[in-house]
Amino acid sequence: MIVLPAREREALVADCVARYPEEACGLLIGRRDPAAIVVTQVVPSPNRSPAPRTSFEIDTKLRLDVTRELRGGPTAVVGLYHSHPEGDATPSATDRDRAWEPDLVWVIVALDRGRVAALAAHALDPAGASPAFRPIAIAAQPRTPA
Ligand SMILES: [Zn+2]
Repeated sequence: MIVLPAREREALVADCVARYPEEACGLLIGRRDPAAIVVTQVVPSPNRSPAPRTSFEIDTKLRLDVTRELRGGPTAVVGLYHSHPEGDATPSATDRDRAWEPDLVWVIVALDRGRVAALAAHALDPAGASPAFRPIAIAAQPRTPA
């Protein structure tokens, strides 16, 4: 499960809407609790893809800088987000080809004529012979202990 608080969700969605019709992308910063990955910050990245309307590439330097900055602290890069302008919120064939980090959660925002149509999270299933995504649940806040 991934916890995406309202503030982070709004920041991510606003970035995707603002960059429509190109794909937006960015990093999800957070911590790994026993029960869930908790997103604490969203860091938009320039889309470095040569075809930004149909694919995305996170800026390599941004990724390195953020990783370095967080090293030794309680949070880390726990996932990526990107948008699918006029698409759905499931990983595309290109996304499957490019996914190689099994620890990262992928949040995908589907846009329909510039407005949010769906938002979903996926993770790589390490059990699969070839990389395969499986959907994971999104909550707005951590489950409070009973
Ligand atoms: Zn995609």
